[in-house]
Amino acid sequence: MQFPLTLTHVLARTEKLFGAVEIVSRRPDSSIHRSSYGEVCARARALASALSAASLERGDRVGTLMWNHAVHLEAYLGVPVAGCVLHTLNLRLHPDELAYIIKHAGDRVLIVDETLLPVYEKLRGQIHPERVIVVSVRGQLPFPECESYGDFLTQGKPGYELPQLDENEAAAMCYTSGTTGVPKGVVYTHRSVILHSLAAALPDAFAIAQADSVLPVVPMFHANGWGVPFAAAMVGSKLVLPGPRLDPVSLLDLLDQEKVTRSGAVPTVWMAILAALDEHPGRWKLQPGLRVLCGGSAVPESMFRAFDRHGIELIHAWGMTELSPLGTVCHLKSSLVDRPESERMATRLKQGLQAPFVEIRAMVGDQEVPWDGETLGELEVRGPWIASSYYNLPDLQERWTTDGWFRTGDIVNVDPEGYVKIADRAKDLIKSGGEWISSVDLENALMGHPAVREAAVVAIAHPKWAERPLAAVILKDGCRAEPEELRAHLSQKFSRWQLPDAFVFLEEIPRTSVGKFQKSRLREMFAGWEWDQTAGGSA
Ligand code: ADP
Repeated sequence: MQFPLTLTHVLARTEKLFGAVEIVSRRPDSSIHRSSYGEVCARARALASALSAASLERGDRVGTLMWNHAVHLEAYLGVPVAGCVLHTLNLRLHPDELAYIIKHAGDRVLIVDETLLPVYEKLRGQIHPERVIVVSVRGQLPFPECESYGDFLTQGKPGYELPQLDENEAAAMCYTSGTTGVPKGVVYTHRSVILHSLAAALPDAFAIAQADSVLPVVPMFHANGWGVPFAAAMVGSKLVLPGPRLDPVSLLDLLDQEKVTRSGAVPTVWMAILAALDEHPGRWKLQPGLRVLCGGSAVPESMFRAFDRHGIELIHAWGMTELSPLGTVCHLKSSLVDRPESERMATRLKQGLQAPFVEIRAMVGDQEVPWDGETLGELEVRGPWIASSYYNLPDLQERWTTDGWFRTGDIVNVDPEGYVKIADRAKDLIKSGGEWISSVDLENALMGHPAVREAAVVAIAHPKWAERPLAAVILKDGCRAEPEELRAHLSQKFSRWQLPDAFVFLEEIPRTSVGKFQKSRLREMFAGWEWDQTAGGSA
């Protein structure tokens, strides 16, 4: 049957069936606010009505500068069902970059958390939205253009009916976090959001069911919060939203008290949580069925082992803003569960199998590489929730092949079972004497050393070998390790020519706004490194 796949249907069904299911939000002062899908959906309708009364039209963008909480969920639902486009803004970006994004997207309305008014203040000279609506607990409206969200919600027309939408209308948009180059906008349609939610909720993906209690740590401004809020709203599962309090103790308190069964965050967040669990044994009682989703950058083996030790299941996934973001998820096929532990671990470390409707191929030039688990190629993808262009950037169409595949910029191999392994981003691969070295593999192995907390490996120009690997390492508190010891540790798995020739010990590794290692910054910091000419190189 031809039936439009829209969030309007999700809203109506969820409020009818799951109105009593709780939405828990942590406020900035740490207090807990409890509401329900009934309330959130009613307020989402009020928001849609108010946007319409404010003369917003189909396709108009509404920017949100908000943490994860119930009001952001209202916007997730209310903005798209009005026919407008939810544009989530990454509050950690530099104000100039944020201003650029807001202007590039043409946001007509901004909805801002009271606690983020200082961020807004730094932008306000550069942007001119028509309405600035403040979600305020303390009633702060410090600038003349600000109005209160509570008041705005009352401005809709009585008897307002949601518009009938076409599934191909835009529902949401996100800008890439700028790890590579200028931020680029990606627009998602109702159809792509719905299909993505269906795929994300599947048992072999994020496995989100109505009975789950779901805590997305991943910010709702980062790639649709990985699609988790939409998927949870679709199936009617309880949502636990941590607000701005993302320290491990606050998160563990929520995981425990709200009996969370599904959560998602980038590896750095889980590393901090695992460290807190080890530091305070027995302090938190986590749900026996807790599964955590981890992606955004590669998950090191040491993290898998730590989760195993705590009896928590880790789901490794790969995605990109351009993919809504789900691309692949790693679950062991039934035929692999009885393999020896080392083989199972090797598979779990991969980024996994393509989700249904995501097509993949690894390419060198215009040739697809074989699925032999070795040959590297650039991953190309296509599917119903994968962008076909960037918003208003026609010059960047070269990221798509003429036959419609998106070039991810990730260098991968695919094994005969179909498991994709990301070796690197194209620009992070290290080219030494004509051979490629994967920085991700070296990082993972380094993080397996007992003294190493975090490690990032980058290519630095070398007069003889073109590039050689330099490892930036953060040691665990109170631990020591000399470069020779780390090299010896790595040489159990790597050939001599693949080992980093330089180790630098840092207090902190520069990160992007979503918590990934900022390798471009590291490369800048160590450009012009004086290599010991006798060391390294491909033999
Ligand atoms: P940005 O491009 O600004 O970093 P994205 O969140 O879209 O923002 O990043 C997508 C990229 O993150 C992918 O192309 C890939 O390089 C990396 N990535 C995502 N998930 C994983 C993972 N599980 N393992 C390794 N790399 C990952």
